Order: sequence, then structure tokens, then C-alpha cells
Amino acid sequence: MSIDKSSNSPLGDGGKLKLAIQKSGRLHDDSIRLLKECGIDISNGVNKLKADASNFPLEVFFLRDDDIPQYVEDGVADIGFVGENVVFEKNKKVEIVEKLGFGKCRLSIAIRKGETYTDASFLEGKKIATSYPVILEKYLKDNKVNAEIHEISGSVEIAPGIGLADAICDLVSSGSTLFMNGLKETEIILKSQAVLIKDKNLDPEKQKILDKIIFRIESVKKAKNNKYILLNAPNNNLKEIISLLPGMKSPTVLPLAEEGWSSVHSVLSEEQFWDIIEQLKAAGAQGILVVPIEKMII
Ligand code: ATP
Ligand code: ZN
Repeated sequence: MSIDKSSNSPLGDGGKLKLAIQKSGRLHDDSIRLLKECGIDISNGVNKLKADASNFPLEVFFLRDDDIPQYVEDGVADIGFVGENVVFEKNKKVEIVEKLGFGKCRLSIAIRKGETYTDASFLEGKKIATSYPVILEKYLKDNKVNAEIHEISGSVEIAPGIGLADAICDLVSSGSTLFMNGLKETEIILKSQAVLIKDKNLDPEKQKILDKIIFRIESVKKAKNNKYILLNAPNNNLKEIISLLPGMKSPTVLPLAEEGWSSVHSVLSEEQFWDIIEQLKAAGAQGILVVPIEKMII
């Protein structure tokens, strides 16, 4: 029987990086999708406790999101994908390495719709239901408010309706759950999204694998924030059109078969997109095509 000499782990995992992701729930699909976009294939075994990537030195553990910071602190997993809300609440010794751009939500205070909210002092002496006692306690302390924190693990939004609390502190994305429960959002305590966390004592060999993953994630994120644009420009206005386009270096300009026209190619960021498109049209650009970019390496 051969012995895997590349393994420096007592568990004999062959030096693979161990990633913890949510087993099921709001972060699961996007976590798998991100790995896929990074060219990491774990297609078989998502229903098991763990799965090996077939084309990358990565082992994926499927866990409850609440447990991920602890597993990473303990080194059972080397890295994890988890909401910032959970990272701050659990307060474990882990390092946030990268924001992942999905799982966006906010942790907010909400009160009964009919009540008038002024500022944080509204909460003085009140009872607040939450699954985030640590973050809420810090918020109350920072705002010098004394309130009673009532910790519950789920369905926080029904607490005011059944007389369990005067207010809640809970995750919100669209606000429709609050609305349906007769509540209104009054204060955002934390804006959150999924992040990549790592064990603070990651071994250098594993750090090298992590660096590869970070490089891929950043390429995917950049690509998502940018669009590739192709357009036809009349040569007499080419200078103005080029000046509107930032590009990675500068736009590519190719002559069209039709005399007096050029084809211009460039990259535009999502934020600038609509503004620039309007200006391009006004400058005489025609046949504007906008296409998604899969990966972007600068
Ligand atoms: P688990 O079984 O893993 O403990 P859960 O019920 O705690 O799952 P989910 O509801 O799946 O968790 O949410 C996971 C994470 O998704 C949250 O911690 C948060 O970071 C993010 N999230 C994004 N939008 C929302 C939202 N509208 N409500 C709740 N969480 C959201
Ligand atoms: Zn959870």
C-alpha cells in the first residue's frame, strides 16, 4: 500500500484545503456556484457531510452556518464561506479574507408599524427579541440604551405580535416578512454579505492553495462587476466616444468594412454602465452590444 507523503496533517488528508460551507439554506447554492465559477468541481456528493473537489486540492464540509466560525477557529476546517452576521455574532478567532458578493442582507431593528420611532432611545426599557444577542448588545451599549434582550432562535418576527417583545432585531432582505407581521424597519445595525474566513494559524502550504482560490474568486468578482461592450462609432466622433470609455488599458478600435466607421471594444463597470451608455448614444455610437464577462484577470 502506498503512503501519501504529501500529507502533513495528522488526519492524512493529503494537504488538501478544507472548506466549510452551509449544508442547506440561503448560502448553499451560491457557495457551490462560486466554486464552480472558480473552476472547482464538487458535483458529486453535495448531500453528504463532505465531498472532494475532483480537480483542485479542496475538501468541502457541509455544515450549519452557525457552526462554521467555530470549526474554522478550531482548525477542523481551514476556511469557510459564511455570513458576516454570523462571524460577528460568534466572535471567534477567525480572519475575514474576502467579501463574496452574495447572501446580502441587513440586521435591523423593527418595531410595530403603528408606533412612532425617533431614535435608538425609543428602545429604552423595552424588550427586544433576536437571534443576534451579541451584536444587539453591542449596538445598545454603543447607543447607551438599556433594554432587555430576549434571545430566540427562529421566527423572531412573530414576537411582537404574540406579546413576547416590543421590538425585534433580525435579518431583513426585502422587508416583506416584516410587513406581513405588522412591523417596520427603523434602524440598520449591520449590513452583511457572505465572506471567506480563514483559520488564523493556517499552515503555509495550505495558504498557497488558499491564495489560488482567492485569485480565482477575485477574477470572478471583477468579471461580474464589469461588462464587455462593442459598438460602432462614426470616425468623425471617434475621439469623443473613446474618451467616454475607460477600458482596461484603452479601448480596441478596428475599422469597419463600411467607410467612415469603426468598431470599438471596451470594458465598463456595472456602476458606470447606464450613464456611459447614454453618453455614447448621444455621441453617435450605434449597434451597441453589451456582453457578460466570465473571468477577468488584470
Ligand atoms: P442553518 O440551518 O445553516 O443554521 P439558517 O436558518 O441559520 O441555516 P439561512 O436562513 O439559510 O440560515 O441564512 C443563512 C445566511 O444567509 C444568514 O446568516 C445571512 O448571512 C444570509 N441571508 C441573506 N438574506 C437573508 C434573509 N433575508 N434572511 C436571513 N438570512 C439571510
Ligand atoms: Zn443558522
